[in-house]
Amino acid sequence: MSLLATKFLPFHQAFIGEEEIRSVAEVMRSGWLTSGPRAKEFEACFARFVGAEHAVAVNSCTAALHLALAAIGLQEGEEVILPTMTFAASAEVVLYFKARPVLVDCINGSFHMDPAEIERAVTSRTRAVVPVHYGGYPCEMDSILEIARRNKMKVIEDAAHAMPSRYKGKMIGAIGDITCFSFYATKTLTTGEGGMATTENQEYAERMRRLSLHGISKDAWKRYTAEGSWKYDIAEAGYKYNLPDLQAAIGLVQLGKCHAMQARRREIAEQYTEELETLEGFTAPATASDEGHAWHLYVVHVNSAALRIRRDQVIEELKNRGIGTSVHFIPLHLHSLYQRHLGYREGQFPNAEERFSGAISLPLYPGMDDADVGRVIEALRDVNREFIR
Ligand SMILES: *Cc1c(COP(=O)(O)O)cnc(C)c1O
Repeated sequence: MSLLATKFLPFHQAFIGEEEIRSVAEVMRSGWLTSGPRAKEFEACFARFVGAEHAVAVNSCTAALHLALAAIGLQEGEEVILPTMTFAASAEVVLYFKARPVLVDCINGSFHMDPAEIERAVTSRTRAVVPVHYGGYPCEMDSILEIARRNKMKVIEDAAHAMPSRYKGKMIGAIGDITCFSFYATKTLTTGEGGMATTENQEYAERMRRLSLHGISKDAWKRYTAEGSWKYDIAEAGYKYNLPDLQAAIGLVQLGKCHAMQARRREIAEQYTEELETLEGFTAPATASDEGHAWHLYVVHVNSAALRIRRDQVIEELKNRGIGTSVHFIPLHLHSLYQRHLGYREGQFPNAEERFSGAISLPLYPGMDDADVGRVIEALRDVNREFIR
């Protein structure tokens, strides 16, 4: 039993080295722990990295999404179109405004929202569309931008999985009106908790920055420096969403190894795909060889026609073989809030339900060595062998 416990391969482990630890220690010794020079530097480096004009550091992607919708002036009763195949955060921020999240289905066989469904969901009340770059694979941005332009909607990208991702030569972060990133513990670039909003629009950037710190018209930390003054103005009611320097110090180091971490995830993904092609019980993701992929998630599909057990049992069998997995995501329309409060029901988005019913996210992080990858592959082989019809 204890042997099994020590050999368990977790679904995720943060890839943190001595550099991150030193960087945080420096902040701790500096005498200034919350948002200050390191957060500023992180914003500047991040903006340069994705090729955006402005970057506003906040304490989560949820905060970034909230501020993005505030920056475009979303009003009560308006509508925001987004995929049902996403995490709670993408839609709940719409509810903060008493606006309506309008859910749409995926493309058949894909985890991405269907542009044709976006088009169908547009009404006179639609203000924005929120594409989610599921797993780190970029959405069909050309179609989405074209539909948005034609219908005067803003494009707020949920790029929680897309660091770094590239669409037709352009980094995610320099495409839509505002792009929101997550540095949550399991994401490809982590600060424990954290987020970033990038935009080309200076007004949006200034509004998001102000709202991120109580609606105060200038940086709090400058008040305590030689060039600062104690005076400030509260311009509007804001929030407490600033990213502390302690977090930014981790982010700066992580940003420096972002491409190397992505390269290792891609290597692992390629090994999974090669193996899965030989196993009838499972199908590799359709996005398997794409260069612009951040590879946040590797989602294998359980072929219920070929296996005697279904997804939930496959997860148990993998766990029994010491492999941690997860599922991304239970579509929003299947949750009680969305059924009770917004009238969605099971069966409404068949493509998303079909994807969800077979999905298992495999461990995929740069700290996995070849032996770890081999154990995941061996477990999949073993389940395939035991349960094939
Ligand atoms: C993780 C995640 C978020 C929320 O990110 P936080 O930084 O935890 O707020 C939003 N959208 C998607 C798709 C996510 O996976």
